[in-house]
Amino acid sequence: MNQKFFIKTFGCQMNVADSERMAALLGALGMEPAETIDQAQVIIINGCSVREKAVHKAVSSLGELQVLKRSPGRIGGAPIIGMGGCVGQLDKNTLFKRAPYLDFVFGTDTIDNLPEIIHRVRSGERHVIYTDFDQSMDYSTETKLYSASAQAFVNIMKGCDKYCTYCIVPYTRGREKSRTIDEVVSDIARLVATGVREVTLLGQNVNSFGKGNPNSAQREPRALHNVIGKVGPKEGEENFPQLLRAIDSDPRCAALKRIRFTSSHPLDFSEELLECYAPAEQGGVARLASQLHLPVQSGSNLVLQKMGRHHKIETYFSQMERLRKLQSDVGLSTDLIVGFPTETDEDFQATLDLLDRVQYDSIFAFAYSPRPGTRAAKMPDDISNAIKNERLNILLKHQLKISERRNSACVGKRMEILVEGEAKNQNMAAEQISGRVWTGRAGSNHVVNFLIPAEAGLHENPAGKFVTLEITGSTSLSLQGKLNPESSHFS
Ligand code: SAM
Ligand code: SF4
Repeated sequence: MNQKFFIKTFGCQMNVADSERMAALLGALGMEPAETIDQAQVIIINGCSVREKAVHKAVSSLGELQVLKRSPGRIGGAPIIGMGGCVGQLDKNTLFKRAPYLDFVFGTDTIDNLPEIIHRVRSGERHVIYTDFDQSMDYSTETKLYSASAQAFVNIMKGCDKYCTYCIVPYTRGREKSRTIDEVVSDIARLVATGVREVTLLGQNVNSFGKGNPNSAQREPRALHNVIGKVGPKEGEENFPQLLRAIDSDPRCAALKRIRFTSSHPLDFSEELLECYAPAEQGGVARLASQLHLPVQSGSNLVLQKMGRHHKIETYFSQMERLRKLQSDVGLSTDLIVGFPTETDEDFQATLDLLDRVQYDSIFAFAYSPRPGTRAAKMPDDISNAIKNERLNILLKHQLKISERRNSACVGKRMEILVEGEAKNQNMAAEQISGRVWTGRAGSNHVVNFLIPAEAGLHENPAGKFVTLEITGSTSLSLQGKLNPESSHFS
């Protein structure tokens, strides 16, 4: 019987992509994914450090594993247990003391060492640790996918040089480095040949992609202009709009339908990147999804300054307004932090005003959590947890109303969605005739659920296929769509 592995992932899409890579590496050792943690011989916690709560979750889930080490009758014997991700990187010196039964710790830059680490633990070594940062100036890799899917995350850069005052990421993921455009395009072409139809380009700040890479292919645009001034890649270096255009125009990527990216920073959001959102006939990037996640963090200039974001809220508004002019239906989302040190009621009100002005489709909002070693951790954490939670609730409720309104305005439109799988909630089926409810995402990133009636006689699994739906209903979180019974649906 093949050995089994179980990976528990916390945190952002970067961690999700890292876990997929770990799974592919373990798969190459002949291992299979376990359905439950009890069946696994190798267990990995991929932890997130971005907020204290997240670290706590990862470390306490480690505590729950101790019992598995001590179960005498366990099939496959005692499991090997490892901690990775940002928690492994940052807490490397304390994890073995806290959890002596832990077998190995690895970091964000040593995932590819996993087969060697497992071999060393199996050979009897205790407390194996791999957390060095790769010191080379270049970043070269190949995307590894464990399961065949129509969607893929593709790391295009790693690390972050922005050092926002609240953020731990520059300490857990190291300095910013980008792959070359040639390498990323060939990587995506290879994925497309295996059936991938949508890629999400990943990095902490993808729009500063290319910094330090010589633009030897003389690609356009040669220089970037942003509202703030000169940041990111310089003239003569590769840049993000060049990458989008190179993927879009490469004949090997012709079967690719959508390009998404996350995350980005307003400081590096150049005019040239905005132009990629123009209609294709006016020089835009045809396959760029009509969606943007542009974290803003606060609506108050004073707070933005203390956060070290280096831009004014007015600049952000002009970027958003320009984008809406290019694509009125663009799906917008952002990240926000409430309760940052010194945040007043007026500062918080400015964040609520920001929501009204930008009209996001969705937001990710967090209560400020001081992270040891960051500049903000030296400021007094003077907003009580009660006020942080109160502001968070007000903010989320405020956005819910906006999302509800925006989603209801989608009713009557037609949207092309990429089907992701069966919906967890099958309620739609109960209201109508029998069948299964499926779920997918539109280019704008709206979640759309739809029913395939049993009588339609469609027995195949539509996951990974595109279908155009008429939007017939909405809630604050998702849309409902309807298949056109006359046409052949899935492509
Ligand atoms: N690089 C991305 C960016 O700049 O938007 C994502 C960074 S982080 C993984 C995702 C989000 O977590 C941030 O945008 C921010 O809103 C939030 N975050 C980061 N540090 C935080 C902290 N100390 N307390 C609360 N939220 C935090
Ligand atoms: Fe953290 Fe700021 Fe870098 Fe995003 S841009 S990862 S918030 S330091």
